[in-house]
Amino acid sequence: MTRPCRIAVLGSGIMGSSTALLLARRGHQVELFDEANAPFSAASRWNEGKIHLGFLYSGDPSLQTARKMLPGSLAFKPLVENLIGCPIGDWSTPSDDLFLCHRHSVVEPEATHGYLQHVAALVRQHPDAGQYLADASACRVQRLTARELAALTDSPHIVAGFRVPERSVATNWIADRYVEALAAEARIALRLNARVTSVSRADPGRHGERWHVESSLGRDGPYDYIVNALWNGRMAVDASAGLPPAGKWSNRYRLSLFARTTTAVDAPSTIITTGPFGDIKNYNGRDFYLSWYPSGLMMDSALVSPPEPPDLDEAAVQEMTDSIFARLGEFLPQAGAIRRHLERIALRGGWVFAAGQGQLSDPRSTLHRRSDYGITVKGNYISVDTGKYAHAPLLAHRLAEGLSG
Ligand SMILES: Cc1cc2nc3c(=O)[nH]c(=O)nc-3n(C[C@H](O)[C@H](O)[C@H](O)COP(=O)(O)OP(=O)(O)OC[C@H]3O[C@@H](n4cnc5c(N)ncnc54)[C@H](O)[C@@H]3O)c2cc1C
Repeated sequence: MTRPCRIAVLGSGIMGSSTALLLARRGHQVELFDEANAPFSAASRWNEGKIHLGFLYSGDPSLQTARKMLPGSLAFKPLVENLIGCPIGDWSTPSDDLFLCHRHSVVEPEATHGYLQHVAALVRQHPDAGQYLADASACRVQRLTARELAALTDSPHIVAGFRVPERSVATNWIADRYVEALAAEARIALRLNARVTSVSRADPGRHGERWHVESSLGRDGPYDYIVNALWNGRMAVDASAGLPPAGKWSNRYRLSLFARTTTAVDAPSTIITTGPFGDIKNYNGRDFYLSWYPSGLMMDSALVSPPEPPDLDEAAVQEMTDSIFARLGEFLPQAGAIRRHLERIALRGGWVFAAGQGQLSDPRSTLHRRSDYGITVKGNYISVDTGKYAHAPLLAHRLAEGLSG
């Protein structure tokens, strides 16, 4: 459409906020709904920020997941810098990730090595490889020597290691810049503390079908378009628009630690693969992300509307924090160094919606394939399964281009 439209965007995470900014900059009037009292309060603020090139998905040797993920991750930096109006280089991890293979990995070390090399070739061949967080046009995977591995861990469970040119961003900092960009855009009106329950058809306008949004604030509209980017809340609202849930899915609520130390700690960004393990992410020497998947997994639900996760009291927060440090520390002693130098720490996270189910320890789990996400269009109602933080800006860009003809 070339005329200015009134558009409701549901959900103010990275998906909804990127879409709202792009549509507003094309001259549309956007109302951005969220149940929270501020934009970017959920998973898009509190995640690890890995800008996935596909290396982590060795459980999908078809490379379908890697191929799907590559374009969004290679486009992430320029698109986000344009959206928030500032460079993100200083808020990206400064060195390559180290992937350590656990003896109970769902993929054997030799097969992992082969898989990583295939993904590296895909990255090198991609025309946008040079615009990744760190130029990836000469992307190579390097096997760690026995000495390098021993310097990282003395765990008998770690059987191989690889240096992998994949980077991450500090999502909390990026969230703050998005909030500023939304506030600066006159064509975006925030509808906060608005829990969206459904959408309904309004009287058709001169240009066709229009929609109302029903939320805890009442009925809003009519809108020429609706973009549903509610992530964990998406399917229930889709059903009210006549898009019934399809396939199999899971909603997992995950918590991790976001730590800042008083002094620089030498703890490389290291991930234990492939399965229900954990990782340390070092953004700048003093800001860290630490996770141990089984300790931080609070809920795994296959319902359309998963129940609210329980509030954790102080003792429960302490117990989960201790558990993440202890389990991670069994493999990566650097976790202990981070804990000894803590300035502050927060246990945070959010929902992970996935078109897959099962246990990460099971090679047959469909969670090891993550290629089934994207945009669904039904007339002027659009629903987006973000898939990953890393891919939201490109999906938003495609969506805004599509709407603008
Ligand atoms: C611990 C953790 C680590 C992760 N690590 C990575 C990673 O390294 N790399 C990566 O690419 N991805 C990662 N992810 C996934 C990533 O966080 C999500 O894919 C991404 O943030 C989803 O963005 P979104 O905008 O779709 O959802 P959200 O950021 O969740 O935004 C959805 C918004 O909708 C609102 N909402 C929901 N239901 C309703 C309703 N009914 N009414 C009104 N508002 C509602 C919520 O308040 C929220 O603000 C991780 C997730 C977690 C939890």
